[in-house]
Amino acid sequence: MIHRTVATWQTETWQEALKNVIRTPEELFSLLKLDPALLPAAHLASGDFALRVPRCFVRRMEPGNINDPLLRQVLPIGDELLAVPGYSHDPLEEKTTNPHPGLVHKYQGRVLLVVTGSCAINCRYCFRRHFPYADNRPSRAQWQQALDYIRADTSIREVIFSGGDPLNAPDATLSWLTDEISQIEHISRLRVHSRLPVVLPSRITDECLEWLARPRFANTLVIHANHARELDTSVAQALSQLRAAGVTLLNQTVLLKGVNDSVSSLAQLSERLFACGVLPYYLHVLDKVAGAAHFDVPEADAKHLHQGLLHSLSGYLVPKLVREIPGHPSKTPVI
Ligand SMILES: *Cc1c(COP(=O)(O)O)cnc(C)c1O
Ligand code: SF4
Repeated sequence: MIHRTVATWQTETWQEALKNVIRTPEELFSLLKLDPALLPAAHLASGDFALRVPRCFVRRMEPGNINDPLLRQVLPIGDELLAVPGYSHDPLEEKTTNPHPGLVHKYQGRVLLVVTGSCAINCRYCFRRHFPYADNRPSRAQWQQALDYIRADTSIREVIFSGGDPLNAPDATLSWLTDEISQIEHISRLRVHSRLPVVLPSRITDECLEWLARPRFANTLVIHANHARELDTSVAQALSQLRAAGVTLLNQTVLLKGVNDSVSSLAQLSERLFACGVLPYYLHVLDKVAGAAHFDVPEADAKHLHQGLLHSLSGYLVPKLVREIPGHPSKTPVI
């Protein structure tokens, strides 16, 4: 009884943590002791795309530092409200390439299943900030349509759980989907793209490992970290469990001004990822989504940074610098 508070805190489930995410600028400002003069702008910008950040991620931020690289990724600011030419609401034209609810088939041999539209965290630079989530929450019947599509196309070898964040979905749903897909003979690989192992590592439970590490597939989890400081010991532990279960771990990063736009920051991220058993996969140039222009790193600078990484790291620690161009058959290398 004496230890009740401690015990309650320690046993908070990931579902509870997800319910208890920080959703108001007031609370974030008060927790981190930020300058209240910036609060009105935060309010305005969060009306456009809501603030949403798990508490354990906020605990990795430095109080009082408005330029903290983790904070910058989630803090709504006035710059988001500026209309900048060339930045649109659907830069990847996904609204037009999304014919089946919950299924995106853009690239040869692999399909995306949009398992859920929701995320644990709202990243201010996200290209999905204007995505029509509501249209992409398939019912079981719609799942059957998506599964039929995969069954019928033997050129598909890999199914990718995507979102939103697929790990926001309950394990029961994910386990059921994995079961259904495992009965399709031509599928040999299952991949999950998720930011949750980084922003809410308690999500990696035994139930999650059960379907994610099923031996039927060669399983890959692509995490999303943008800065070395995101990978604290709790994240390292979750990643080590995933590795022990036989899951191949990769990381994708978005190149973001004021967050990770230096050779030293990107090199530290690669080193830290590898120490956690994760290989750097992609370094994405920002998608030109309305509200995110202040994160843009000009392409010439991006190439320069990538060169700097090639000069300072082992080859396997250097992610591929890519851009997504609508209509192209793959991510496009920036060289
Ligand atoms: C990025 C992406 C993939 C995966 O591409 P890889 O290069 O294999 O990582 C698949 N489908 C869509 C629609 C994508 O945007
Ligand atoms: S977790 Fe991924 S999909 Fe969700 S808001 Fe962040 S970048 Fe976008």
